[in-house]
Amino acid sequence: MRVLIVEDEPNLGRQLRSTLEGAGYAVDLATDGEDGHYLGSTENYDAVILDLGLPEVDGLTVLDRWRKEGRKMPVLVLTARDSWSDKVAGLDAGADDYLAKPFQTEELIARLRALIRRSSGNASSELNAGDIRLDTRSGKVTKGGEPVKLTAQEYKLLSYLMHHKGKVVSRTELIEHIYDQDFDRDSNTIEVFVTRIRKKLGPDVITTIRGLGYSLEEPVS
Ligand code: CA
Repeated sequence: MRVLIVEDEPNLGRQLRSTLEGAGYAVDLATDGEDGHYLGSTENYDAVILDLGLPEVDGLTVLDRWRKEGRKMPVLVLTARDSWSDKVAGLDAGADDYLAKPFQTEELIARLRALIRRSSGNASSELNAGDIRLDTRSGKVTKGGEPVKLTAQEYKLLSYLMHHKGKVVSRTELIEHIYDQDFDRDSNTIEVFVTRIRKKLGPDVITTIRGLGYSLEEPVS
């Protein structure tokens, strides 16, 4: 899952990025509204964290532009403390959730997880496919109840497929959603990760659909 943070306070931005990366997300950081708007218009994110008070273009305008352009990714706005008018304006402009500053990082991550889950049509924070379980809260994966250790990239790939279970996901889509902007994106590495995941979780867990991509289905028993 790939997340965009638009935040102009350097310390907060950096801290959020490293926390989210630690929680298994690919993260891009923009430090002004113009940059943020551009990234959100041209890249595909699973969610955006958007500060409202931003240099160049303010957060509400950025959000309003995205929605007018038809960009539908879930957006969580960061508002000044106790500013109810900010919250109302944010929700009116098309925000999906808001959080007042200062906030607990744990709460931000929990809200982000919920937003991503809901937008991909998953009600529970625990995702299942056959005997494989992925707990989006802890980042732990089990097969038949036994813990399986995945690398960060393997986890990102599996998590994206599990969020979109039953759909065919192309290699390009995977690249867009598991790597951040600065990552050296080589589509061959996707196949390498898929092979490693199959070794750890079983050969049938991910189906290759020739010419289209990959799909994760409930195994037929
Ligand atoms: Ca700000």
